[in-house]
Amino acid sequence: MATELTEEGEFHRASSIEEAVTLLEERNAALISGGQSLMPLIRQGLIDRDVIVDISGIDDHTDIAVTDDGLQLGGLATHRDLIEADLWETPYRALPETAKEIGDKQVRNWGTIGGSVAHADPSLDYPPTMIVLDAVVQYTDGSETKEVPIDEFYLGQYFTVLEPHEIVIGVRVPKPSANTGVAFEKFAWRRGDMSLVNVAASVTVDETGSEIEAARIAVGAMGPTPLRLTELEAELVGSDPSDESHQQAVADRVGEFTEPVPEAHGSVEYKNRIATNLTRKTIRTAIERATEN
Ligand SMILES: Cc1cc2nc3c(=O)[nH]c(=O)nc-3n(C[C@H](O)[C@H](O)[C@H](O)COP(=O)(O)OP(=O)(O)OC[C@H]3O[C@@H](n4cnc5c(N)ncnc54)[C@H](O)[C@@H]3O)c2cc1C
Repeated sequence: MATELTEEGEFHRASSIEEAVTLLEERNAALISGGQSLMPLIRQGLIDRDVIVDISGIDDHTDIAVTDDGLQLGGLATHRDLIEADLWETPYRALPETAKEIGDKQVRNWGTIGGSVAHADPSLDYPPTMIVLDAVVQYTDGSETKEVPIDEFYLGQYFTVLEPHEIVIGVRVPKPSANTGVAFEKFAWRRGDMSLVNVAASVTVDETGSEIEAARIAVGAMGPTPLRLTELEAELVGSDPSDESHQQAVADRVGEFTEPVPEAHGSVEYKNRIATNLTRKTIRTAIERATEN
Protein backbone atom coordinates (compact mmCIF):
# COMPACT_ATOMS: atom_id res chain seq x y z
CA MET A 1 0.00 0.00 0.00
CA ALA A 2 1.31 3.47 -0.89
CA THR A 3 0.27 6.45 1.22
CA GLU A 4 0.54 10.16 0.39
CA LEU A 5 -0.59 13.32 2.15
CA THR A 6 -2.53 15.62 -0.18
CA GLU A 7 -4.64 18.76 0.20
CA GLU A 8 -7.65 16.46 0.53
CA GLY A 9 -6.05 14.44 3.37
CA GLU A 10 -4.50 10.97 3.30
CA PHE A 11 -4.50 9.12 0.00
CA HIS A 12 -3.91 5.37 0.03
CA ARG A 13 -3.29 3.28 -3.05
CA ALA A 14 -4.62 -0.11 -2.03
CA SER A 15 -2.87 -3.16 -3.44
CA SER A 16 -5.77 -5.53 -2.79
CA ILE A 17 -9.52 -5.40 -2.29
CA GLU A 18 -9.08 -6.85 1.23
CA GLU A 19 -6.70 -4.03 2.15
CA ALA A 20 -9.19 -1.45 0.85
CA VAL A 21 -12.03 -3.05 2.86
CA THR A 22 -9.91 -2.92 6.04
CA LEU A 23 -9.25 0.80 5.55
CA LEU A 24 -12.93 1.46 4.90
CA GLU A 25 -13.80 -0.39 8.11
CA GLU A 26 -11.15 1.26 10.28
CA ARG A 27 -11.02 4.82 9.03
CA ASN A 28 -13.39 7.59 7.98
CA ALA A 29 -12.58 6.74 4.38
CA ALA A 30 -14.00 7.21 0.87
CA LEU A 31 -13.38 4.64 -1.84
CA ILE A 32 -12.25 5.91 -5.22
CA SER A 33 -11.98 3.90 -8.41
CA GLY A 34 -11.97 5.92 -11.63
CA GLY A 35 -12.77 9.14 -9.78
CA GLN A 36 -15.15 10.37 -12.49
CA SER A 37 -18.01 10.90 -10.06
CA LEU A 38 -16.16 11.12 -6.74
CA MET A 39 -13.54 13.73 -7.68
CA PRO A 40 -16.13 16.38 -8.65
CA LEU A 41 -17.84 15.78 -5.28
CA ILE A 42 -14.53 16.10 -3.40
CA ARG A 43 -13.69 19.32 -5.29
CA GLN A 44 -17.07 20.77 -4.38
CA GLY A 45 -16.43 19.93 -0.71
CA LEU A 46 -19.35 17.51 -0.63
CA ILE A 47 -17.25 14.58 0.62
CA ASP A 48 -15.77 15.01 4.06
CA ARG A 49 -13.46 12.06 4.77
CA ASP A 50 -10.03 11.79 6.39
CA VAL A 51 -8.81 9.17 3.95
CA ILE A 52 -9.25 8.40 0.25
CA VAL A 53 -8.72 4.74 -0.65
CA ASP A 54 -7.84 4.26 -4.31
CA ILE A 55 -8.50 0.82 -5.82
CA SER A 56 -7.64 1.71 -9.42
CA GLY A 57 -4.18 0.10 -9.23
CA ILE A 58 -5.50 -3.33 -8.25
CA ASP A 59 -5.06 -5.87 -11.07
CA ASP A 60 -7.91 -8.18 -10.01
CA HIS A 61 -11.49 -7.87 -11.24
CA THR A 62 -10.52 -6.11 -14.47
CA ASP A 63 -11.44 -8.91 -16.89
CA ILE A 64 -14.42 -9.09 -19.21
CA ALA A 65 -15.18 -12.64 -20.34
CA VAL A 66 -17.94 -14.50 -22.17
CA THR A 67 -18.58 -18.02 -20.89
CA ASP A 68 -21.16 -20.68 -21.79
CA ASP A 69 -23.36 -19.34 -18.97
CA GLY A 70 -23.11 -15.67 -19.69
CA LEU A 71 -20.90 -12.62 -19.42
CA GLN A 72 -18.64 -11.70 -16.51
CA LEU A 73 -17.73 -8.02 -16.12
CA GLY A 74 -14.95 -7.12 -13.70
CA GLY A 75 -15.96 -4.35 -11.33
CA LEU A 76 -12.62 -2.61 -11.89
CA ALA A 77 -12.85 -2.80 -15.69
CA THR A 78 -13.34 0.58 -17.34
CA HIS A 79 -16.03 1.68 -19.78
CA ARG A 80 -13.33 1.63 -22.45
CA ASP A 81 -12.46 -1.99 -21.58
CA LEU A 82 -16.11 -2.88 -22.13
CA ILE A 83 -16.23 -1.08 -25.48
CA GLU A 84 -13.05 -2.86 -26.60
CA ALA A 85 -14.12 -6.30 -25.34
CA ASP A 86 -15.55 -7.25 -28.75
CA LEU A 87 -19.09 -7.93 -27.60
CA TRP A 88 -20.66 -6.26 -30.63
CA GLU A 89 -21.77 -9.50 -32.30
CA THR A 90 -22.99 -11.13 -29.09
CA PRO A 91 -26.29 -11.07 -27.15
CA TYR A 92 -24.58 -8.53 -24.84
CA ARG A 93 -24.09 -5.84 -27.50
CA ALA A 94 -26.37 -3.38 -25.67
CA LEU A 95 -23.69 -3.13 -22.95
CA PRO A 96 -20.89 -1.70 -25.13
CA GLU A 97 -23.55 0.40 -26.86
CA THR A 98 -24.42 1.83 -23.45
CA ALA A 99 -20.76 2.29 -22.49
CA LYS A 100 -20.16 4.26 -25.71
CA GLU A 101 -22.80 6.77 -24.61
CA ILE A 102 -21.03 7.55 -21.31
CA GLY A 103 -19.37 10.97 -21.06
CA ASP A 104 -16.30 11.69 -23.16
CA LYS A 105 -13.14 9.71 -23.88
CA GLN A 106 -11.49 10.62 -20.58
CA VAL A 107 -14.55 9.56 -18.57
CA ARG A 108 -14.65 6.26 -20.46
CA ASN A 109 -10.91 5.69 -19.99
CA TRP A 110 -11.02 6.19 -16.22
CA GLY A 111 -14.56 5.43 -15.09
CA THR A 112 -15.23 1.86 -13.97
CA ILE A 113 -18.16 -0.47 -14.18
CA GLY A 114 -18.15 -0.99 -10.39
CA GLY A 115 -18.02 2.75 -9.74
CA SER A 116 -20.93 3.40 -12.09
CA VAL A 117 -23.04 0.66 -10.55
CA ALA A 118 -22.25 1.70 -6.97
CA HIS A 119 -22.63 5.46 -7.45
CA ALA A 120 -26.41 5.06 -7.76
CA ASP A 121 -27.05 8.37 -9.46
CA PRO A 122 -30.45 7.65 -11.07
CA SER A 123 -29.38 9.14 -14.41
CA LEU A 124 -26.43 6.78 -14.95
CA ASP A 125 -26.58 4.76 -18.13
CA TYR A 126 -25.64 1.19 -17.21
CA PRO A 127 -28.40 0.37 -14.70
CA PRO A 128 -31.38 0.17 -17.12
CA THR A 129 -29.40 -1.99 -19.56
CA MET A 130 -28.20 -4.24 -16.75
CA ILE A 131 -31.73 -4.51 -15.32
CA VAL A 132 -33.22 -5.71 -18.60
CA LEU A 133 -30.31 -8.16 -18.96
CA ASP A 134 -31.24 -9.58 -15.52
CA ALA A 135 -27.71 -8.80 -14.26
CA VAL A 136 -26.44 -9.65 -10.80
CA VAL A 137 -24.12 -7.34 -8.83
CA GLN A 138 -21.21 -9.09 -7.09
CA TYR A 139 -19.67 -7.41 -4.06
CA THR A 140 -17.46 -8.28 -1.13
CA ASP A 141 -16.88 -7.35 2.49
CA GLY A 142 -13.32 -8.64 2.19
CA SER A 143 -14.05 -12.20 3.23
CA GLU A 144 -17.26 -13.23 1.48
CA THR A 145 -18.53 -12.57 -2.05
CA LYS A 146 -22.22 -11.73 -2.18
CA GLU A 147 -24.62 -11.39 -5.10
CA VAL A 148 -27.82 -9.41 -5.54
CA PRO A 149 -30.00 -8.94 -8.65
CA ILE A 150 -29.40 -5.41 -9.87
CA ASP A 151 -33.10 -4.54 -9.71
CA GLU A 152 -32.90 -5.11 -5.93
CA PHE A 153 -29.57 -3.27 -5.55
CA TYR A 154 -30.88 0.33 -5.67
CA LEU A 155 -32.72 1.55 -2.58
CA GLY A 156 -32.86 5.27 -3.35
CA GLN A 157 -30.94 8.14 -4.91
CA TYR A 158 -27.21 7.49 -4.22
CA PHE A 159 -28.27 4.67 -1.91
CA THR A 160 -27.73 0.93 -2.47
CA VAL A 161 -27.70 -2.29 -0.44
CA LEU A 162 -23.90 -1.90 0.02
CA GLU A 163 -22.52 -1.36 3.50
CA PRO A 164 -19.91 1.45 3.61
CA HIS A 165 -17.02 -1.06 3.63
CA GLU A 166 -18.38 -3.26 0.80
CA ILE A 167 -16.90 -3.11 -2.70
CA VAL A 168 -18.46 -4.04 -6.05
CA ILE A 169 -16.13 -6.54 -7.71
CA GLY A 170 -18.21 -7.57 -10.69
CA VAL A 171 -21.43 -7.87 -12.61
CA ARG A 172 -22.64 -11.25 -13.85
CA VAL A 173 -24.96 -11.28 -16.85
CA PRO A 174 -26.74 -14.59 -17.51
CA LYS A 175 -26.88 -15.71 -21.13
CA PRO A 176 -30.18 -14.45 -22.59
CA SER A 177 -32.51 -17.13 -23.94
CA ALA A 178 -32.65 -17.70 -27.69
CA ASN A 179 -34.55 -15.14 -29.81
CA THR A 180 -33.87 -12.31 -27.36
CA GLY A 181 -32.97 -8.80 -28.41
CA VAL A 182 -31.78 -6.01 -26.13
CA ALA A 183 -31.53 -2.29 -26.88
CA PHE A 184 -30.59 0.95 -25.09
CA GLU A 185 -31.42 4.57 -25.98
CA LYS A 186 -30.54 7.79 -24.24
CA PHE A 187 -31.49 11.44 -24.61
CA ALA A 188 -29.10 14.13 -23.40
CA TRP A 189 -28.95 17.78 -24.40
CA ARG A 190 -25.40 17.40 -25.73
CA ARG A 191 -23.36 14.33 -26.62
CA GLY A 192 -21.41 13.25 -23.52
CA ASP A 193 -23.86 14.75 -21.04
CA MET A 194 -25.63 12.72 -18.40
CA SER A 195 -28.97 11.35 -19.58
CA LEU A 196 -32.08 13.48 -19.30
CA VAL A 197 -33.88 10.18 -19.88
CA ASN A 198 -32.62 6.71 -20.79
CA VAL A 199 -34.43 3.49 -21.56
CA ALA A 200 -33.47 -0.15 -22.09
CA ALA A 201 -35.67 -2.98 -23.32
CA SER A 202 -35.26 -6.70 -23.72
CA VAL A 203 -37.72 -8.74 -25.79
CA THR A 204 -37.86 -12.51 -26.34
CA VAL A 205 -39.99 -13.84 -29.19
CA ASP A 206 -41.16 -17.42 -29.74
CA GLU A 207 -39.50 -19.72 -32.29
CA THR A 208 -41.79 -18.65 -35.12
CA GLY A 209 -41.32 -14.98 -34.35
CA SER A 210 -45.09 -14.49 -34.07
CA GLU A 211 -45.47 -13.85 -30.33
CA ILE A 212 -43.58 -11.94 -27.63
CA GLU A 213 -42.75 -14.47 -24.90
CA ALA A 214 -40.96 -12.22 -22.41
CA ALA A 215 -40.12 -8.54 -22.06
CA ARG A 216 -38.27 -6.24 -19.72
CA ILE A 217 -38.27 -2.44 -19.77
CA ALA A 218 -36.30 -0.10 -17.49
CA VAL A 219 -36.03 3.69 -17.50
CA GLY A 220 -33.33 5.86 -15.95
CA ALA A 221 -33.41 9.48 -14.69
CA MET A 222 -37.17 9.20 -14.22
CA GLY A 223 -37.22 8.59 -10.45
CA PRO A 224 -34.93 8.18 -7.44
CA THR A 225 -33.70 4.83 -8.79
CA PRO A 226 -33.81 3.22 -12.22
CA LEU A 227 -37.39 2.02 -12.65
CA ARG A 228 -38.45 -1.33 -14.03
CA LEU A 229 -41.84 -1.05 -15.75
CA THR A 230 -43.33 -4.47 -15.01
CA GLU A 231 -46.91 -3.48 -15.88
CA LEU A 232 -45.85 -2.48 -19.38
CA GLU A 233 -43.70 -5.60 -19.75
CA ALA A 234 -46.80 -7.72 -18.98
CA GLU A 235 -48.76 -5.92 -21.68
CA LEU A 236 -46.19 -6.80 -24.30
CA VAL A 237 -46.13 -10.50 -23.42
CA GLY A 238 -48.40 -12.52 -25.69
CA SER A 239 -48.65 -9.74 -28.30
CA ASP A 240 -47.64 -9.86 -31.95
CA PRO A 241 -44.08 -8.51 -32.44
CA SER A 242 -45.19 -6.82 -35.67
CA ASP A 243 -48.02 -4.93 -33.93
CA GLU A 244 -46.41 -1.50 -33.73
CA SER A 245 -49.61 0.24 -32.71
CA HIS A 246 -49.82 -1.99 -29.61
CA GLN A 247 -46.20 -1.16 -28.78
CA GLN A 248 -46.98 2.55 -29.19
CA ALA A 249 -49.98 2.16 -26.84
CA VAL A 250 -47.73 0.45 -24.29
CA ALA A 251 -45.07 3.18 -24.59
CA ASP A 252 -47.75 5.89 -24.27
CA ARG A 253 -48.42 4.66 -20.69
CA VAL A 254 -44.82 5.13 -19.43
CA GLY A 255 -45.72 8.36 -17.62
CA GLU A 256 -48.14 6.47 -15.35
CA PHE A 257 -45.17 4.76 -13.68
CA THR A 258 -42.44 7.42 -13.60
CA GLU A 259 -41.57 10.12 -11.06
CA PRO A 260 -39.28 12.56 -12.91
CA VAL A 261 -38.01 15.71 -11.22
CA PRO A 262 -38.78 18.88 -13.20
CA GLU A 263 -35.72 20.91 -14.27
CA ALA A 264 -35.23 24.22 -16.05
CA HIS A 265 -34.72 22.40 -19.36
CA GLY A 266 -37.04 19.48 -18.80
CA SER A 267 -40.55 19.61 -17.35
CA VAL A 268 -42.23 16.44 -16.11
CA GLU A 269 -44.38 16.40 -19.23
CA TYR A 270 -41.39 16.84 -21.52
CA LYS A 271 -39.41 14.06 -19.82
CA ASN A 272 -42.36 11.71 -20.03
CA ARG A 273 -42.79 12.51 -23.72
CA ILE A 274 -39.14 11.66 -24.33
CA ALA A 275 -39.44 8.50 -22.24
CA THR A 276 -42.42 7.43 -24.35
CA ASN A 277 -40.52 7.98 -27.60
CA LEU A 278 -37.39 6.21 -26.36
CA THR A 279 -39.45 3.30 -25.00
CA ARG A 280 -41.20 2.78 -28.33
CA LYS A 281 -37.84 2.93 -30.10
CA THR A 282 -36.05 0.51 -27.74
CA ILE A 283 -38.93 -1.98 -27.92
CA ARG A 284 -38.79 -1.86 -31.74
CA THR A 285 -35.02 -2.31 -31.85
CA ALA A 286 -35.16 -5.13 -29.31
CA ILE A 287 -37.83 -6.90 -31.41
CA GLU A 288 -35.80 -6.44 -34.60
CA ARG A 289 -32.78 -7.94 -32.86
CA ALA A 290 -34.82 -10.79 -31.39
CA THR A 291 -36.11 -11.74 -34.83
CA GLU A 292 -32.80 -11.16 -36.67
CA ASN A 293 -31.73 -14.79 -37.05
C1 LIG B 1 -17.93 14.86 -17.55
C2 LIG B 1 -18.64 13.63 -17.08
C3 LIG B 1 -19.61 13.08 -17.88
C4 LIG B 1 -20.28 11.92 -17.47
N1 LIG B 1 -21.23 11.40 -18.29
C5 LIG B 1 -21.83 10.24 -17.95
C6 LIG B 1 -22.77 9.65 -18.82
O1 LIG B 1 -23.05 10.13 -19.90
N2 LIG B 1 -23.35 8.49 -18.41
C7 LIG B 1 -23.05 7.88 -17.23
O2 LIG B 1 -23.59 6.83 -16.92
N3 LIG B 1 -22.16 8.44 -16.39
C8 LIG B 1 -21.56 9.60 -16.71
N4 LIG B 1 -20.66 10.17 -15.86
C9 LIG B 1 -20.48 9.57 -14.54
C10 LIG B 1 -19.32 8.62 -14.49
O3 LIG B 1 -18.97 8.12 -15.72
C11 LIG B 1 -19.63 7.42 -13.65
O4 LIG B 1 -20.35 7.70 -12.49
C12 LIG B 1 -18.26 6.89 -13.29
O5 LIG B 1 -17.71 6.27 -14.41
C13 LIG B 1 -18.23 6.07 -12.06
O6 LIG B 1 -17.10 5.24 -12.03
P1 LIG B 1 -15.77 5.66 -11.30
O7 LIG B 1 -14.93 4.44 -11.32
O8 LIG B 1 -15.20 6.88 -11.89
O9 LIG B 1 -16.31 5.92 -9.82
P2 LIG B 1 -15.71 6.93 -8.72
O10 LIG B 1 -15.93 8.32 -9.14
O11 LIG B 1 -14.36 6.51 -8.32
O12 LIG B 1 -16.73 6.56 -7.53
C14 LIG B 1 -18.10 6.88 -7.62
C15 LIG B 1 -18.79 6.40 -6.34
O13 LIG B 1 -18.81 4.97 -6.30
C16 LIG B 1 -18.03 4.49 -5.20
N5 LIG B 1 -17.26 3.38 -5.77
C17 LIG B 1 -16.35 3.42 -6.77
N6 LIG B 1 -15.96 2.18 -7.11
C18 LIG B 1 -16.64 1.34 -6.28
C19 LIG B 1 -16.70 -0.07 -6.15
N7 LIG B 1 -15.99 -0.88 -6.95
N8 LIG B 1 -17.51 -0.59 -5.19
C20 LIG B 1 -18.25 0.20 -4.38
N9 LIG B 1 -18.24 1.55 -4.48
C21 LIG B 1 -17.47 2.11 -5.43
C22 LIG B 1 -17.18 5.66 -4.73
O14 LIG B 1 -16.89 5.56 -3.36
C23 LIG B 1 -18.08 6.83 -5.05
O15 LIG B 1 -19.05 6.99 -4.06
C24 LIG B 1 -19.96 11.31 -16.23
C25 LIG B 1 -18.95 11.87 -15.43
C26 LIG B 1 -18.30 13.01 -15.84
C27 LIG B 1 -17.21 13.59 -14.98
